[in-house]
Order: sequence, then structure tokens, then C-alpha cells
Amino acid sequence: MNDSNNLCPICGEGNLHPEVGKNPVEYKGQTTELDLHYSLCDACGSEQADATQTRVNKRLMIAFKKRVDGLLVGAEVRAVREKLGLSQAEAAQAFGGGPVAFSKYESDDVAQSEAMDKLLRLAAELPSAFDLLCRRAGLGRVLAGEQWQQAEGWLAEPRHPAEGRRPRLRVVSSSTPSADQPTRYAA
Ligand SMILES: [Zn+2]
Repeated sequence: MNDSNNLCPICGEGNLHPEVGKNPVEYKGQTTELDLHYSLCDACGSEQADATQTRVNKRLMIAFKKRVDGLLVGAEVRAVREKLGLSQAEAAQAFGGGPVAFSKYESDDVAQSEAMDKLLRLAAELPSAFDLLCRRAGLGRVLAGEQWQQAEGWLAEPRHPAEGRRPRLRVVSSSTPSADQPTRYAA
């Protein structure tokens, strides 16, 4: 008895049954075994993966590559974003990458760049850096005054060392900065 949804497209007689096997993979000299999702035909014995299974397999491989490359895997990107209290769309506004970037990073459809990875870690570890990115993106996150003062040294770093000496920024007001009352700088 054939279920048309699971009919084997190769022999046209058997039914496909989902299976999970082990798939040894190697990347940059590191090896592991990933789950391999596929379907097995009970008539002709052929193994095949449909679009959904192929996507699952691809995500597992990308997550493995991220680990080897020292990048945050999808679940870790999501954890950072949620710690920062951002929606996926807000995260793209603050950090870049395009409107669906975080959906793709978090599902392991795409590996974020090394630069994006470093930016996410920086934002998670340094509230003042995160605050600055949000301000520039118009997201209106506000830091407490004490955290803002801690950022002073970092903010004073010249943005483009090649341009030589530039006026150094100095925070002259760190009291409860807000969207209504922008932080003022003195040269
Ligand atoms: Zn078959």
C-alpha cells in the first residue's frame, strides 16, 4: 500500500521512511560524526534526502564548521541577542548584516563573519559599546551613568589610526544620558 506523500520517486513502488544515520565529516583537520537525516525506500532500498532533510543536514554541518572556526553557533548567537534584549530585526539594525541576518545566523543557515562574531562578543561584554551601537542605530537603549563612565577610555580610542592625531573625545556629562538628552562631548 503506497502513501503518495512517501512514494519513492526512484522506483515508484516503495514507501520512504525517515532515518537518522551517522555521517563522519572533516573540516580543517577536525573530524566528528554528525547526524545524517535521510529517507530509505522499503522496496528498492535507495537512500534520499528531501529538501527539509537536506536543510537540517546542512545546518548541522555549518554549526560544526562554526565550532571549528571558533565562531558562536546559532544557539549562542541567539543567547547573546536575547541577553542584549534585542529582536532579530533590532540586532540587524545595531550590528548590520541585513534584515534576515540573525534568523540565518541563529538557525545555522549561514555562518556570521569573524568580524560580526567579534562585534557580538564585544557588545555582550562591554555595555558601553553596545549602548553606542544602539544609539547610532537609533534604538534608544540607555546606559546607567556609571557604565557610561567606564566606557570613556574605549571611546577615546581614535577610530582611524592612519589619520593621525585627532581631537580626543572626552565625556563631559555622564549623568543619565537618554534619547532626549544626548551625551555631550568636548574636544
Ligand atoms: Zn524505491
